[in-house]
Amino acid sequence: MMARTHIAFAALMMVACSVGILQRMPQVHEVALAGAAGLLPDLDHPKSTFGRIVPYISIPIAKVFGHRGFTHSLLMVAVIIWLLLTHREQQNIPILPLVIGYFSHIIGDLLTPSGVPLLWPIRQKFSLNLFKADGWVEQLIYRGCWIGVGYFLWVALQRPGHAWIQPAQMALQRWCWLALEHSAVMIVQWVRIMA
Ligand SMILES: [Zn+2]
Repeated sequence: MMARTHIAFAALMMVACSVGILQRMPQVHEVALAGAAGLLPDLDHPKSTFGRIVPYISIPIAKVFGHRGFTHSLLMVAVIIWLLLTHREQQNIPILPLVIGYFSHIIGDLLTPSGVPLLWPIRQKFSLNLFKADGWVEQLIYRGCWIGVGYFLWVALQRPGHAWIQPAQMALQRWCWLALEHSAVMIVQWVRIMA
């Protein structure tokens, strides 16, 4: 999967989990963090987004383990959860977005033909082989993810506690109708002039 699709997928997972499971509106920083964490596993590739920021980390990892190695495994997810939980007291680390973002990357790569070594250090790669990276299906998934994010935010806004949204919705509807009406009048006038 391409970087931008990983970000979109991670954002969707974060928003879906927040709205669907935790029953609350996600914070902007949570979605942003999940998106960033969604790029972290590709630290094992020197040309990836994070790989280019810290080449002194990505180049050695790529040389020793290769791309899509241990950073794309369940073991690494477990290590990250353990690290975050053990350091939770010292700093106020938002654990959920980081774990969701990281895990979403592995799921994303699992869907592509190259697959991921889920059970690393066992080297066997698992793949659902659903679509090629950067093909038209991925383009569709990328857009679908953002539509999904919009959908979950819309669902959250419908819930009680967001009563302010109703006047805003009505104002928007009224504005749309006025714009439509105005456009129709303009078109009719234009047709008359042309005729
Ligand atoms: Zn990857």
